[in-house]
Amino acid sequence: MNQDEPSKSEVAYLALKHAVIEQALTPGTKLPEDTLAAHLNVSRTLVREALARLIAEGLVDAGRRRTATVAQPSRAEAHNVFEARACLEREVVRLVIERWTPSMGAALEGHLRDEEDAARTQPPALCARLAGEFHIRLAQLAGNPVITRYLSELVSRCSLILAIYGNTHSPQCGIDEHKALIEALRRRDAKAALRLMDAHLASIQQRALAPEKKPVDDNLGGILDRYAASVAAPARRARKVG
Ligand SMILES: [Zn+2]
Repeated sequence: MNQDEPSKSEVAYLALKHAVIEQALTPGTKLPEDTLAAHLNVSRTLVREALARLIAEGLVDAGRRRTATVAQPSRAEAHNVFEARACLEREVVRLVIERWTPSMGAALEGHLRDEEDAARTQPPALCARLAGEFHIRLAQLAGNPVITRYLSELVSRCSLILAIYGNTHSPQCGIDEHKALIEALRRRDAKAALRLMDAHLASIQQRALAPEKKPVDDNLGGILDRYAASVAAPARRARKVG
């Protein structure tokens, strides 16, 4: 086997992870081992390995009766994810500026070009994943693998949060905001870079957790109850006035 070729277990893990991050597999979707094994063309042992990694990363819930599901973070968990992400991203900015070399600028601009190309030619889901990967790339440049590992987990979990509470496929990031951040990093202007990163993360959080998104429930009974109540209420008010 070519050494650069991912192992079968890595392929299964990445296929599932990308499907979750790109919101093709939505929160709550059941992930039966036999179906996964058949479609990912791997043994159930390797499926379990891949699921165990995704469970550890908070993207999959182990599930009762042993069927795993795509994770459904609560609003409280979502706030915790964003808070932790902001801490790490600030540290990444600080470290990248401290350890800056011109090759870092080239690496980030290369990624930015990929994002711009994708915005023109690729579906929104893939663009959103690429935007998240910008932040992971930045963490890699900071040179601390522990931070990279935790941050990539948090960025992935933000995709789930967007899937639940945001508009479907609403982008995690504005490309222009990434561009402005790279410029501040190039100038090694820590104050400006931190301000840009804070504003960038706040706008992602605002899009992901805006209160007026999606109905509270999507079961037929709940929806009918709400609509029946909203139609009945004006009729009652009209009778009182009359
Ligand atoms: Zn971003």
